[in-house]
Amino acid sequence: MDYTGFFRSELDRLRLEGNYRKFAELERHRGRFPVANCHNGPGEVTIWCSNDYLGMGQHPKVLSAMHEALDRTGAGAGGTRNISGTTHDHVILESELADLHNKEAALLFTSGYVSNWAALGTLAARIPNCVVLSDALNHASMIEGIRHSRAQKVIWKHNDLADLEAKLAALPPEQPKLIAFESVYSMDGDIAPIAAICDLADRYGAMTYLDEVHAVGLYGPRGGGIAEREGVMDRLTIIQGTLGKAFGVMGGYIAASAEICDFVRSFASGFIFTTALPPALAAGAAASIRHLKASSDERAAQQARVAQVRARLDEIGLPHIENPSHIIPVMVGDPVKCKFISDMLLREHGIYIQPINYPTVPKGTERLRITPSPVHSQRDIDRLIAALGTLWARCQLARQPLAAQ
Ligand SMILES: *Cc1c(COP(=O)(O)O)cnc(C)c1O
Repeated sequence: MDYTGFFRSELDRLRLEGNYRKFAELERHRGRFPVANCHNGPGEVTIWCSNDYLGMGQHPKVLSAMHEALDRTGAGAGGTRNISGTTHDHVILESELADLHNKEAALLFTSGYVSNWAALGTLAARIPNCVVLSDALNHASMIEGIRHSRAQKVIWKHNDLADLEAKLAALPPEQPKLIAFESVYSMDGDIAPIAAICDLADRYGAMTYLDEVHAVGLYGPRGGGIAEREGVMDRLTIIQGTLGKAFGVMGGYIAASAEICDFVRSFASGFIFTTALPPALAAGAAASIRHLKASSDERAAQQARVAQVRARLDEIGLPHIENPSHIIPVMVGDPVKCKFISDMLLREHGIYIQPINYPTVPKGTERLRITPSPVHSQRDIDRLIAALGTLWARCQLARQPLAAQ
């Protein structure tokens, strides 16, 4: 076989479909985020699509905790959790996470992806005859975990309680069930009806697994997520989150009963057979969580910026999905124009927003996903709106009727 020829032709096919990904090579500057240097682009850019939602990746408390831990303990953990890699910093972080979600225990993984893959994969595989009821828009990491488990899977329509109930009712009452879903869905920014899903879980004897990756740090009085805000954390069997988005560092976790965390710790290959996170990352994440438990300033500032950007988009009639979260999907609805606007934003305006095209979102719903944060200034917002207005005209894209003025 012509191996190289095969790889080339597959990549060419991606390019032809317009699905080939080119990365912006960024260099962030501590204290200046959302400004960064784009090494393969126009130089200085303002980032408007980061998942460092609150700017915690440059927070002085996070950085000093990481510096302190690095100087105190060295670079890496030096082993898997089982073989010499469980450090004091990991244990402290896990108790910080258990407390955040008001659960008995928490278990750390190297990323949110790995935590979904390993936890769902292990639970669904090892609970005899388990069936997983999975929301149709669940993240790839959950889908892969469920697939890996080889358990029976039933997909229910996105956020559709009637469909979930019909599917629960169709299963044998005594069969073990696990409902897997997210709180904030990252592409449309919509939010699941968590309490109503828990009601169904209670009625049909199911466990619940909630991915709060796009909500931890951002919602609830202590940043425990949507479930905390709605007072339902205790109703969820397992809450999963990341330390890499609003908390600004890296890593993933589940929080649950002592038995479930111990079970996953004991049986999950993706937990057991991999080197533990560096202690400095654990220390930085713990500092970030601790800060956001006590301070709502960042959350309030973020919500204010989001409202402001939405209002400014409305003023110039740019269509965006109304949703109850911090994610602003500005709808372009054409893959070529979406990519073009993104390219021009970068090249001519020094604004970086990655285009979101198929297969990440359905064809015809191509969009620019904007994530305002407390570190974006008034001037950043002015420049963003002016640039989008100019490019919208240039691409002859439709505008919404102006709101009553
Ligand atoms: C990003 C993401 C993950 C994975 O988290 P990482 O820490 O980035 O690996 C899991 N679930 C959802 C919904 C995500 O968007």
